[in-house]
Amino acid sequence: MSQSDILFNQAKKYIPGGVNSPVRAFNGVGGNSIFFESGKGAHLLSVDGKKYIDYVTSWGAMILGHSNPYIIDQVKATLEKGLGFGSPTKIETLLAEKICELMPSIELVRMVNSGTEATMSAIRLARGYTNKDKIIKFDGCYHGHSDSLLIKSGSGTLTSGIPTSKGVPKAIIENTISLEYNNISQVYQALKNEDVACIIVEPIAGNMNCVLPIDGFLQGLRKACDEYGVVLIFDEVMTGFRVDIGGAQTYYQVKPDLTTLGKIIGGGLPVGAFGGKREIMEFIAPMGPVYQAGTLSGNPISMTAGLAMLNILSADNNFYKNLSIKTNQLTSGIISQANKYGIDIMANTAGGMFGLFFTELDQVTNLNQVEKCDIELFKKFFHLMLKEGIYMAPSAYEAGFITSMHSDEDIDFTINAAKAAFASLKK
Ligand SMILES: *Cc1c(COP(=O)(O)O)cnc(C)c1O
Repeated sequence: MSQSDILFNQAKKYIPGGVNSPVRAFNGVGGNSIFFESGKGAHLLSVDGKKYIDYVTSWGAMILGHSNPYIIDQVKATLEKGLGFGSPTKIETLLAEKICELMPSIELVRMVNSGTEATMSAIRLARGYTNKDKIIKFDGCYHGHSDSLLIKSGSGTLTSGIPTSKGVPKAIIENTISLEYNNISQVYQALKNEDVACIIVEPIAGNMNCVLPIDGFLQGLRKACDEYGVVLIFDEVMTGFRVDIGGAQTYYQVKPDLTTLGKIIGGGLPVGAFGGKREIMEFIAPMGPVYQAGTLSGNPISMTAGLAMLNILSADNNFYKNLSIKTNQLTSGIISQANKYGIDIMANTAGGMFGLFFTELDQVTNLNQVEKCDIELFKKFFHLMLKEGIYMAPSAYEAGFITSMHSDEDIDFTINAAKAAFASLKK
């Protein structure tokens, strides 16, 4: 047994499934989870001393690679002053100011501790602001694990969803409408029949692998929301600072009313945030009637890591251009190797995120199509790559991420590993 297997078995004795977030348990690919010892740049070192090129990068949070020296130094300096006071500190304003400066639609921003908290709070705010209860989301989009968002569309009418988890009360399901991603006519149909507070969407879906909005989808949502007095929420927990310094809203030039953030803005530490139009944000306590709070919200350690991260990202005008080049180098390299072995594969990419799909389709634009991909082939591919020292997301439903630390050598090494994997899959 490897050291990793031993640790996984020990963990299972005290932690449900041995993990603190389900995807880490490798249920999506089979086999045992890997325990890591350390990370540096684009590389991870397992407890068994094996080196991996990392395409999970803490689910996209580590866009500068692991152990960025500037972020770590800044955090160390803040640590020396104490871990938090439950009172305001200057660093919170500095990070808020930076976010407002970089994200075109954000005028006021409130810090929380996770993406889940950010979306949950943004939805309460939208409901409080509009005095309406119903919300629209899209199948395959993930917005954290609060009750009202763990719902997908049912097979019958548009408006009766089904929960994706046990424990979600029926009364809650009744207020969530889940529609097909990229389907604007379903949105209009729902808005005509229901009184809707908000539409929440991943402007680039990164939790059903990586699915891009088709031309006009986000613009269509903006228009529909304006027509029906609905709050448009972009969940940019993943895409914020991942595809552009101004998020997907800058990448696609569509302004939401509210934006939720997380992952990258914590520089690797736990964080979330939601922000947007002043008029709406002023509905939040202590200014307004919508309650929202957090003991550790805005803690100086996370704020410091986040600010250090955004300072580096915003200082380099070519950062996202260079990152996209790396992403496309990787996916086009993998696709051309797959083609040599007659394996059908396609990719979606945006900035530093990508999705590979084992499919004959030349476009994947919704969950239905993602589910039709060859998941069994993906599982085999995943394990072959893992053996070669490539750590990809252990699920066909997760996006991949590039960091600025992935070198040409790392990318070439990965493409060669894919070549070997395809050769053995073809046999
Ligand atoms: C990761 C993610 C979340 C949840 O964030 P947590 O910090 O895990 O609670 C919400 N929305 C999107 C789009 C995400 O990618």
